[in-house]
Amino acid sequence: MSQLAYRRVLLKLSGEALMGDEDYGIDPKVIGRLAREVIEAQQAGAEVGVVIGGGNIFRGAGLAAGGMDRVTGDQMGMLATVINALAMQDALEKLGGKVRVMSAIKINDVCEDYIRRRAIRHLEKGRIAIFAAGTGNPFFTTDSGAALRAIEIGADLLLKATKVDGVYDRDPKKHPDAVRYDSLGYDEVISRDLQVMDTAAFALCRDSDLPLRIFDMSQPGVLLRILRGEPIGTLVHG
Ligand code: UDP
Repeated sequence: MSQLAYRRVLLKLSGEALMGDEDYGIDPKVIGRLAREVIEAQQAGAEVGVVIGGGNIFRGAGLAAGGMDRVTGDQMGMLATVINALAMQDALEKLGGKVRVMSAIKINDVCEDYIRRRAIRHLEKGRIAIFAAGTGNPFFTTDSGAALRAIEIGADLLLKATKVDGVYDRDPKKHPDAVRYDSLGYDEVISRDLQVMDTAAFALCRDSDLPLRIFDMSQPGVLLRILRGEPIGTLVHG
């Protein structure tokens, strides 16, 4: 087993990553494959926290566009992330993982409350901690939840899995000659107006000097390769 370049990481998965080819919900095969990646990383010795979005079920902004009260919509979005977290817990446990779901909103019958010191203890004991319900507040996203939890638990790296294999100078779907960056400073992201994550999440990373790597998780084994130090995707750093 080769040495890991990172001891503790926070992996952010979007809710959409769980849908596979479906339009909604969770594809069991897809979540099983993602869980295998996480287990592989944890078994290699990494401490892994996970944040999952809820966009495969509900997003507050989308519900508000349809006429719903925004705060209620965001609460539904946060509950959607809890649903995804429970599905991921199940998928990880089926593979033999030890897992705890910790929610930013109290929902004690289904999972633990998020308590920072307890979360760190779980990680130290080799448990995978899934942080559900984002920040617990409306008007935020799970990217912000991921940045916040990563900083709180002292993660060495925030890993943001996306459908694109990094950050490009232009939209690679529209511009075939778009160039992918291997690494970027926080200030370059701002000066070049690149979309890495939402502004609040990005500001948290920058202010706490938390490096983040944006990468495509569809390739099997990619998570472990990154943890071993392979420069896959785009690294954003101070
Ligand atoms: N959400 C929220 N506060 C948070 C995190 C999430 O209100 O701290 C709500 C918000 O409505 C958001 C939804 O939960 O749209 C699902 O999260 P997100 O859109 O980040 O999921 P993803 O796009 O990653 O699937």
